[in-house]
Amino acid sequence: MRTPFVVGNWKLHKTVAEAQALVTELKNQLGAIRDVAVGVAPPFTALWPVARRLEDSTIALAAQNCFWEDKGAWTGEVAPGMLADVGCTWTIIGHSERRTHFGETDATVGKRVAAALRAGLGVIGCVGETDAQRDAGQTFAVVDAHLDGILAAAPKDWDKLVIAYEPVWAIGTGRTATPAQAQEVHAHIRGRLRARLGDAAAAAIRIQYGGSVKASNAETLLKEPDIDGALVGGASLDAAEFVAIVKAARPK
Ligand code: PEP
Repeated sequence: MRTPFVVGNWKLHKTVAEAQALVTELKNQLGAIRDVAVGVAPPFTALWPVARRLEDSTIALAAQNCFWEDKGAWTGEVAPGMLADVGCTWTIIGHSERRTHFGETDATVGKRVAAALRAGLGVIGCVGETDAQRDAGQTFAVVDAHLDGILAAAPKDWDKLVIAYEPVWAIGTGRTATPAQAQEVHAHIRGRLRARLGDAAAAAIRIQYGGSVKASNAETLLKEPDIDGALVGGASLDAAEFVAIVKAARPK
C-alpha cells in the first residue's frame, strides 16, 4: 500500500560532470521500474544540471537541506522556494550530520520542515540515536524527540512526509542495524505517528531506513513490514550498487 521510496544522499560528493554522468546512468538503468519511487540528493551546485537530465524521468530531485526563510540577509543559505525553482520536489531535513556538525536542533528542524512544506516540497525528516544513547536505553526517547520536532509542522498530505530512521552509529560506518533492530524502531515510529496523527497518517507515511545500506544487505532490511525504503549515503555514489538497492526494494 505504501510505495517504497529509495533516495541517494550524495552528501559532499560529485562535480557537475560527475553528477550528470551518475544520474544519466541511473535513468538508463531504472527507467522501467515503476513500483519503487526513486530520488537523488546531489550537492546544491549540481541540482540544476541534474534537474535538466531528469526532465523526462520519474527519478525525483531532492536537496540535502533547506533554510526556513524565503529570502533576505542570510548569507550562505538556500531557501525552499529556490530549491523548488531548480526542480527539487523533496528535501532532506535534520540529517544527523547537520545535527552533529552544524548545531541543528529539533526546533530548527521544525522551522525548516514548515518552510519546505510551505514551498510545496516533500520532506524526508531524519531521526536516530547515537551509540551511547542506544547503550543507555534512550533510543525511543531520542527518536521521539526528533520526530516531535519534525511533526511540529506536520503536513495535511501524508505523501509529502517521509521519516528516515538513521541510527547515527550505522551511518557511514559499515555497521548496519540488523533487520530486527531496525524493524523494532520503525514499528515504534509508526506507533508514535498513530498516536500523534491518527491511523490514516500512520498507515500512509513512509519510514525509510538509513545507515550503511548496500546491495548486499538491502533485501533483508527492506522486507521488514515497517521499512518502506532506504536513505542511502555511500552506496548511492555507485550506479550499480544503487540500482541493486532499488531493485531489492521492489514489492515481492
Ligand atoms: C546517510 O548519510 O543518510 C547514510 C545513510 O549514509 P551511509 O549509507 O553511507 O551510511
